[in-house]
Formats: sequence, structure tokens, C-alpha cells
Amino acid sequence: MSEARVVTEADPHFEAEVPVAIIGAGAAGLVAALACHAAGVEPLVIERDAVPRGSTSLSAGLIPAAGTRFQRERGIADDVATFAADIQKKAHGHADPALVALVSRSIAPAIEWLADAHALPFSVVHDFDYPGHSHRRMHGLPSRSGAELVDRLRQAAEQAEVPLLTEARVTTLVRDATGRIRGLVAERPDGGTERIGARAVVLACCGYAGNKALVRKYIPDLAEALYFGHPGNEGEAVLWGEQIGAALRDMTGHQGHGSVAHPQGILVSWAVIMEGGFQVNLDGARFWNESSGYSEAGVAVLRQKDGVAWDIFDARIGGIARQFEDFRNAEAQGAVLAADTIEELAARAKLPVDALRASFDAVEAQKRAGSRDAFGRDWSRGAPLAPPFCAVRVTGALFHSQGGLAIDDAARVRLAAGGIVPNLFAAGGAACGVSGPEASGYLSGNGLLTAVALGRVAGQGAARVAQAEQG
Ligand SMILES: Cc1cc2nc3c(=O)[nH]c(=O)nc-3n(C[C@H](O)[C@H](O)[C@H](O)COP(=O)(O)OP(=O)(O)OC[C@H]3O[C@@H](n4cnc5c(N)ncnc54)[C@H](O)[C@@H]3O)c2cc1C
Repeated sequence: MSEARVVTEADPHFEAEVPVAIIGAGAAGLVAALACHAAGVEPLVIERDAVPRGSTSLSAGLIPAAGTRFQRERGIADDVATFAADIQKKAHGHADPALVALVSRSIAPAIEWLADAHALPFSVVHDFDYPGHSHRRMHGLPSRSGAELVDRLRQAAEQAEVPLLTEARVTTLVRDATGRIRGLVAERPDGGTERIGARAVVLACCGYAGNKALVRKYIPDLAEALYFGHPGNEGEAVLWGEQIGAALRDMTGHQGHGSVAHPQGILVSWAVIMEGGFQVNLDGARFWNESSGYSEAGVAVLRQKDGVAWDIFDARIGGIARQFEDFRNAEAQGAVLAADTIEELAARAKLPVDALRASFDAVEAQKRAGSRDAFGRDWSRGAPLAPPFCAVRVTGALFHSQGGLAIDDAARVRLAAGGIVPNLFAAGGAACGVSGPEASGYLSGNGLLTAVALGRVAGQGAARVAQAEQG
């Protein structure tokens, strides 16, 4: 666990000076670096790991965006206003409206720029709906994996010859008496330190979900839950922010997930639910409206006996989910059970046969009637399940935090007392997201949305500051 300190020095000296320092090489940091480079300023990216991975590499790499050419090619008519309304609806109206407007209008140009300038081969997921999105607008790379996203971004940064300092964990921000950030201190694995001066700094070191103390403070319901994000999400942005008097917002907001194969620990796409599947507990009974979203599913599943549930779907849906590398891995590890009858499936999953049969029959009757069930789930669009049937045992997990540093339209860090730190930027999980203060406010893709959209805004803003300071 790093110490995360801020020191004030009247006349700081550094071993090296760079125009822009970017802390963290996940999606936010690498996009910020490419944007800064495109604006004509050479940033230095500083990453604690030997190879950049971050939570980005653990994700499905899917980024929501409205009005892209990838949507148009699929005949999907979508627009920024509808997207912004969807985000705010899911956040129960509690997300910062200016931030929602900023990210929803910035993301489509960012995705097209990454495709055009850096050859990231995006396509839109066109064969199933994500809860809460009015249109099909999740964009991903061919493998539908975040590992491919972070690898391709790193390769793009390498091709652009953006320097990346790895195995360097930033522990300390250095500011002067005016509050302006002047540089940072990074710790190397051998215990040595490097002092690096910068005219602007971008915090792209993600959120605090990997910091138990902060999770206990802000998300006590998930304090003991499986943490499924990157261990490097230790909350330095929050801890530094507290020390400089930054405004923190929506700190209880987070993304959970209720479909992590157990005990394999592999994400099972929520497509298995949205396409007509459902969840039962160990009694074989349904327990909630699964179409509310996968984030709130985390707590819903953890409240069940042994903190587990079963996803029930069929081979057709499995075929859709197979586009995700994670799902293929789950199958390879034997997490996905299949059977020709519900009775056989119950036996394989060791679920009570009669109860599973009753849950299944009730769901299928709702689909035939096109009605809404007692939990409030609308079945009017669900296709019937047909043999072979499938089941995966899943648990709930904490994926990442959504609260963080409040920022302005240029992604500059706001101060609690008013005003901004003019040369300190935040993007991705380091910044407050657009989910509001509750897990149920998380709309699919809100994580990478703020990483990519704000990464670009922050990189451009940091470049402007560096250029202005140079004179
Ligand atoms: C399992 C899982 C699935 C997900 N699926 C999706 C999805 O499909 N779509 C979506 O939108 N979102 C998804 N998310 C959320 C998404 O992954 C994150 O919101 C996003 O990756 C955050 O990007 P980031 O660049 O801010 O952080 P990260 O990708 O975590 O990158 C932060 C980087 O900073 C480095 N770092 C941290 N501290 C320091 C330090 N002090 N000094 C130097 N380096 C440091 C870390 O090592 C890391 O490389 C998922 C998350 C998880 C865990």
C-alpha cells in the first residue's frame, strides 16, 4: 500500500523535468498520453506495473458511445441527447449534469479518433441489449476484451514514441506554496525514488476499490466481497485529493457485478441474462429483477445463501456470449454446465428439481404472455429458452469505484472551497464518474466511458497548460 502524500515545497528541484506527467497507464492514462501527443506535447506516462494492465485489462473493453459511424454502419440511429438521458436515468438523476454532457458528447469522436489515428478496429455490439441503453451502443475490439484494449493503446503509444516509465509507483505529489502541482516522486522496486517535475499532471491511477480501508468507509456492503478489479486501484487520487482540499463527489458510487463464475472467478457476460436468461438462488427460486442491471446484481446475489446464485440460460444465448473471451474461458474451465432437460440441469447443478422447474416454467409463461413479473421484470422481448439448457454458478463482486475527484469541463480537479487546481487533471476511475452515489446508478460501460472520454479531454487540457507555461 503506497503512502500517497502531498508535500509543499517553496522552490522544488527535480532530477528530470517533463511537460506533462501522466500517472497510470490504463485506458485513461494511455488515451490521455495519445491526446497530449496529438496536441504536440510529449508526455511521460508513469506506471507502477512492469506491463500496463490496470482494471482496463480485466474489463470486457466495451465503451458506450452514441452517433458513431460504427453504429450507422449497422443501421443504429442514436444521438448524444438520448445517451445522456439514459446515463442520468440510470443514475436516478444524481450524476453531475455537466459531466454527463461532457462525456456523452466527447466519447464518439474519441472512439473514431482512436480508430482513425491509431487503427483500433472498433465495432459495435449489435446482437444484444445492455440494460438501460436505449440503443445498441457498446463499442469493442475484436476479442471483446479489455486486455486487447490496453495492449492496443500501449502499442499505439509506443508507435507514437510516447515514453512510458514502468515499475515506478508515484507516492507523492509536490506542490508549491500557491497550490500549483510542480511534480511528483516515484518509487522504484529497489526502494529508490525519482523526483520528476511537470508543468501539468494527469491523475489516471483509477479509483479506490483495491483499498480495503476506503471500501470499508464508502462501500461497507461490499467490504468483504470478492474484489475483481486491479490491485493497483489503491485510491491515491482520493488520498492526494483529500490532502489538497479537492472536492470529492459520489464517493459511495461503484460498480458491482452479480455474474462472476464461482469458484473459477471469471466474468460471465450479463448477455446471458438480458437475452432471456434468469438467476435462481440455491433454493432454485428467482429473487429479483435481473434486468435492473449487473452492478446492483452484486449485492443482490451476495444476499443469497452462501452468497451465490445460478445463471440459467440456453445454448443460443451461450452462442452470443461466446464472443467474449471471458465466456470462452469460463467454458474451457468447466464453469458452464449444459443439459437437455431442466431436470437434468438441476441434477448437474445440485439444485432442487421441482423449484428450478417451477422458476423456469414461470419465466417461460411470462415470456409467452409478454408480461411483467412480480419482481418488475418485463418479459415482452425475451425469446423462449430451448434445449440444451445452460447454468453457471456465480457470485457477486466489487469491480471498481465510481466516486472520485470532481472535475470541470477541461477535466481539471476542483477544490472543495471553490476554484480549481489549474494544472492537475483527473480521468477515468480517478475522477468522479457519471453513476451518482449508488451501485444501481451504474449504466453499462460508465467505467471505460469516463476513462476514454475524460482521458482525451485531460490529455488535451494538460498539453494546453504545458504549452502556455512554456510561453
Ligand atoms: C472485471 C471488470 C470488468 C469491467 N468491464 C467493463 C466494461 O466492459 N466496460 C466498461 O466501461 N467498464 C468496465 N469495467 C470498468 C473499467 O475497467 C474501469 O472503469 C476502467 O478500466 C478504468 O480505467 P482507468 O484507466 O481509470 O484505470 P486502470 O485501467 O485501473 O488503470 C490505472 C493504472 O494506474 C496504475 N497506477 C495506480 N496507481 C499508481 C501509482 N500510484 N503510480 C503509478 N501507476 C499507478 C495501475 O497500475 C493501472 O495500470 C470493468 C471493470 C472490471 C474490474
